[in-house]
Amino acid sequence: MTVQNENEEKRDESGVSQGTALDNENLWGSDMYPERRGGKFQHSWLKILFGAQGRESIDKNRCEHNVYKCIQEGPIIKLMMGALKSSGCEIDIRRHISCEVCNPSVTGGYDSELNQVVICQNSAYNENMVRGVLVHEMIHMFDYCRNKLDVKNIDHLACTEIRAANLGHCSFMSSLLQGDSSFINIKATHQNCVKHKARLSVMAVHKVSKEVAEAAIERVFTKCYNDLEPIGRRVRRNSFDMPRAYAEGHLYGYDV
Ligand SMILES: [Zn+2]
Repeated sequence: MTVQNENEEKRDESGVSQGTALDNENLWGSDMYPERRGGKFQHSWLKILFGAQGRESIDKNRCEHNVYKCIQEGPIIKLMMGALKSSGCEIDIRRHISCEVCNPSVTGGYDSELNQVVICQNSAYNENMVRGVLVHEMIHMFDYCRNKLDVKNIDHLACTEIRAANLGHCSFMSSLLQGDSSFINIKATHQNCVKHKARLSVMAVHKVSKEVAEAAIERVFTKCYNDLEPIGRRVRRNSFDMPRAYAEGHLYGYDV
């Protein structure tokens, strides 16, 4: 699950309830992804009064256009698609990627039961955001394909969220900090970014407390943080890493 940054602190303060009970209704229920499982986003009367109805089809169009562009042009997305194909889980964008209206606190999700990546058309509104969500959720898809990821197991979930934050979001963030940080600081900052981001996702998916999520992350951190498949290196924005990772895909045995 890709959680919006702006809502991080709010989410922390709301004190998500304790417990590890997780059924499908919880995970893919109407609160986060109202269009999943046959639901359809309902217009609110307020929106209709303000003349904002009909926005959903415009958003969906834009979202699908952005997905298409990322797949056509993004080396990192091509690398992920190649890795999935080589692992026997080839992506058909019409079947496996879906633009939907979501709760505004999330920008994307991976539905392991239907093996689908959800892009939240109302919150991931530009190409960069869509690309970020695609990389993140495709890492979950890859883990599900490769390791039979069980998202109901909190350690499994913590592991794949660590990997998604490590190879996606936090790699971009760390490059922004490099100007004024020493190498040691970058390393610590990067690890903290990964832990923070993974914790928010674990808390949101499993509806557990901060402490429970942190404990799961600590249990698997070293192993999962050092597992860089299939990208092979943490990708930094505005660096040559993306094309390079893509160009080296064949060295990892991926069909790119
Ligand atoms: Zn996630």
